[in-house]
Amino acid sequence: MVDWKQIPKIDAHIHLMPDDVIKANSDYDDTFVDNGSVIDYLKIMDANNIECAFIMPFNDPYMLSMDFTVETVHSNLQKMAISSSSKLKCFADIDIRKDISQTLSELDRVLIQKEFIGIKLHPTNTGYPIDGEYYNQIFKYANDNGILIEVHSYPREHLSDDVCSPSRIKNVLNKYAKLKLSIAHLGGFQFEELCGINAYFNISAILPDIVNRFGIERANEILRSIGVDKLVFATDYPDSRCLQANEIYDKYFELLNKMDFSQEEVENICKNNALKMISDL
Ligand SMILES: [Zn+2]
Repeated sequence: MVDWKQIPKIDAHIHLMPDDVIKANSDYDDTFVDNGSVIDYLKIMDANNIECAFIMPFNDPYMLSMDFTVETVHSNLQKMAISSSSKLKCFADIDIRKDISQTLSELDRVLIQKEFIGIKLHPTNTGYPIDGEYYNQIFKYANDNGILIEVHSYPREHLSDDVCSPSRIKNVLNKYAKLKLSIAHLGGFQFEELCGINAYFNISAILPDIVNRFGIERANEILRSIGVDKLVFATDYPDSRCLQANEIYDKYFELLNKMDFSQEEVENICKNNALKMISDL
């Protein structure tokens, strides 16, 4: 049996907070504030053989800056990455309240920095559909420049056209077939609609939810149906719909250890697929 905890890993989707945001919000009971310290997370990485992790912004400047601007979000993300001795990388943020030309020039400015490895789009946090025109301009920019985009996709199940639904993601891919795309949370419980598309899929947040609903064997089949060459290990630490932050890694390893992936497949899911995803090729 492969022991997922022992395999060297990249966690391709986590959240950490700048120290000043943690300090200013320390009176609130909030998992991102309580568990978002870089220093604490570096210890968790060591304990779980996580060599590198990708910090995701929220498309909400109130979460990651004290002056509530995307420019400060970027400098905060970069500082966190630099302070980690290259163990942390980050995705660029956007603020859709800004004029699209300002957003694209801010992306130009930050994406030449080595700490930034892609752009995060979070249609649920912005309430704006992923196939809307503002995002279309960002997809065009990413497509033209070979930049990776990660899309949050955990749609409300009763809606076939939620802002982050597979049907809308497919509209985007119909326009940009060669886009470098990462789907967070597998596309939620509408994952079947995304099978076969040209994208990477990370198991952040959704893995324990899928096992809770379908059981371990069916969850294993679902992961295989997406494709071992497209699956990327990720947790969404410290956020979870069913776990406390300090339970997340142990639970992920417990569930994955029960599945039938070979050593080579686990190595690909844990690291090699993520490296392919962020490479320039
Ligand atoms: Zn997340």
